[in-house]
Amino acid sequence: MARYKIAVIPGDGIGPEIVAEARKVLDAAGEKFGFVLDYQELLMGGASIDVHGVPLTDETIAAAKSSDAVLMGSIGGDAKTSPWYQLEPSKRPEAGLLKIRKSLNLFANLRPAYLYEELKQACPLRDEVIGEGFDMMIMRELTGGLYFGERRTVEENGVRKAIDTLTYDENEIRRIARRGFDIARKRRKKVTSVDKANVLDSSRLWRAVVDEVSADYPDVELEHMLVDNCAMQLVRDPKQFDVILTENMFGDILSDEASMVTGSIGMLASASLNETKFGLYEPSHGSAPDIAGKDIANPIATILSAAMMLRFSLDLDEAADAVEKAVKQVLKDGYRTGDILSPGCTRVGCQEMGDLIRERI
Ligand code: NAD
Repeated sequence: MARYKIAVIPGDGIGPEIVAEARKVLDAAGEKFGFVLDYQELLMGGASIDVHGVPLTDETIAAAKSSDAVLMGSIGGDAKTSPWYQLEPSKRPEAGLLKIRKSLNLFANLRPAYLYEELKQACPLRDEVIGEGFDMMIMRELTGGLYFGERRTVEENGVRKAIDTLTYDENEIRRIARRGFDIARKRRKKVTSVDKANVLDSSRLWRAVVDEVSADYPDVELEHMLVDNCAMQLVRDPKQFDVILTENMFGDILSDEASMVTGSIGMLASASLNETKFGLYEPSHGSAPDIAGKDIANPIATILSAAMMLRFSLDLDEAADAVEKAVKQVLKDGYRTGDILSPGCTRVGCQEMGDLIRERI
């Protein structure tokens, strides 16, 4: 029987609760489709600070690297009340996130924004805009650009001045573009590359390299769109998008916008990939310290992230489909956690939602 090594980072807040439910569902998929996942639990974020004094140790990075994939809950606490935020910024929980992305070379971030028929009422857009619903994938470059560029604050003639730099080389653009086209091939075969080529040099290079890469994918349609237009189109006509391919900062903003048009933060999965099949899978939401330990968190975003892990890192497409189908079925059957509750539905907690999805595998 096929066996895979999965590093599990439960993290903080609701992290341990939602990860436990994802494991339940993964194990059920393993039983049905004939594979075994061997889990190794690792500490990161606040949980690691409490034990090691730092949000991410080298041992944790090494253990993650030696696994087939990483499944993560979420890290961080309440910035106003948690002692973790008394530490200097480089020792706070979130510093662990940036470090693990960089250490594992996770340059491609994937965030699906999918509108479930059953959750249409949570979508803030009008019915005629929603139409038949939408299903897009935001592909964001994650280890370059403005967030990783050189930065400093200086004082010139008594005036404070801050400088951030936005740098991309063609290799960084090419590898993410290839990933974007590869993913589009498995979907509706359309890539919308988003940039600000009317102003930025880095965007002009982005556009040129994406054009070069597209020559190898004649079956995938490519369009270029300016980021300001894309921000408008996401709320004007989200159906037009399949894969949105973009750099780090634009992707940060657009992926949150795309998430919010689905209306349900507890449903949003994400994956971060490197050049190989390896990836880190986590929900798009945070650690929700306000509801931690109450068995009311929605585990579906983590369960859908686990499905992405089956598909992208383990090539278990059939099992991934089964998990996604089980989630759809549970919604169709009228079960909801509090965050997605609507009249006439049955309210369930985090654990019960996990059980209901597991039963439908
Ligand atoms: P959040 O996503 O944790 O919570 C925002 C709101 O959504 C809260 O009201 C919360 O209760 C609700 N919510 C989130 N996930 C939910 C779920 N699965 N089910 C039901 N309700 C859910 O964002 P925040 O409050 O801004 O951040 C809290 C902490 O999480 C911070 O420390 C932040 O830095 C961290 N964070 C971590 C990640 C990550 O690990 N990748 C991402 C974002 C935020």
